[in-house]
Amino acid sequence: MRNKIVAGNWKMNTSVEEGIQLAKEIAQGDIPHDVKLIIAPPFTHLASIKEIIKNNDKISLSAQNCHEKVSGAYTGEISSKMLADLGIEYVILGHSERRTYFHEDDTDIFYKMRVALDNGLKVILCVGEKLEQREVGDHFKVVQKQLEKTLCKFNATEAESVVIAYEPVWAIGTGKTASSEQAEEMHGFIREVIANNFDNKFSENIEILYGGSCKPNNAKEIFSQHNVDGGLIGGASLQSSDFLSIAGSF
Ligand code: PEP
Repeated sequence: MRNKIVAGNWKMNTSVEEGIQLAKEIAQGDIPHDVKLIIAPPFTHLASIKEIIKNNDKISLSAQNCHEKVSGAYTGEISSKMLADLGIEYVILGHSERRTYFHEDDTDIFYKMRVALDNGLKVILCVGEKLEQREVGDHFKVVQKQLEKTLCKFNATEAESVVIAYEPVWAIGTGKTASSEQAEEMHGFIREVIANNFDNKFSENIEILYGGSCKPNNAKEIFSQHNVDGGLIGGASLQSSDFLSIAGSF
């Protein structure tokens, strides 16, 4: 049985005070009983927001990144062990903004996943093609390679702690969303790749979220697709009413 999940990636937005307010509004909102929410605020907000949601079993906390080492002389970095110590449940890895602006490749992402999973974190693994890759018909090949170099290198027990987010890069923050057919087609393909590397049962049970300009006005259509288990939401996760409305779109 797959969970319905709506995850909010706040990116580098909100002051601590604004983040606390946003988390309070989400926690007080009307969250459907069968939907799980994950919020991913900036590192600086995690401890305070953890306190706010500590008695709310419908909301989990995620970090937006972690380093690939557990500790050491890596000025400015945060390790997965530190996040686990703080009681954080998830970390987002492989986001296209990390791939583009911080030059993270699949090998880096694999090492980050390795250490995150070893330290008890669950991983939201982002994959997705760029516009030029889709235009020449390479989108399936690109996503398959991203999966085979990361998720598929783990054993099934480890991979059970991974949620996939399919995020076509051309749809992130652009207001241009994939059509529900495009999302369903890719999600189905992702399940095929996972089935070939693990097995059918595993592939049927892994959650695959869609991300890329998912908003209250298009979430229902996208979430109605058989292989779409929810969304990873950027811009629209910064307004509690939008985020809660998306959570109510199954
Ligand atoms: C994201 O950054 O993961 C994302 C999906 O952003 P947006 O919803 O703003 O496109």
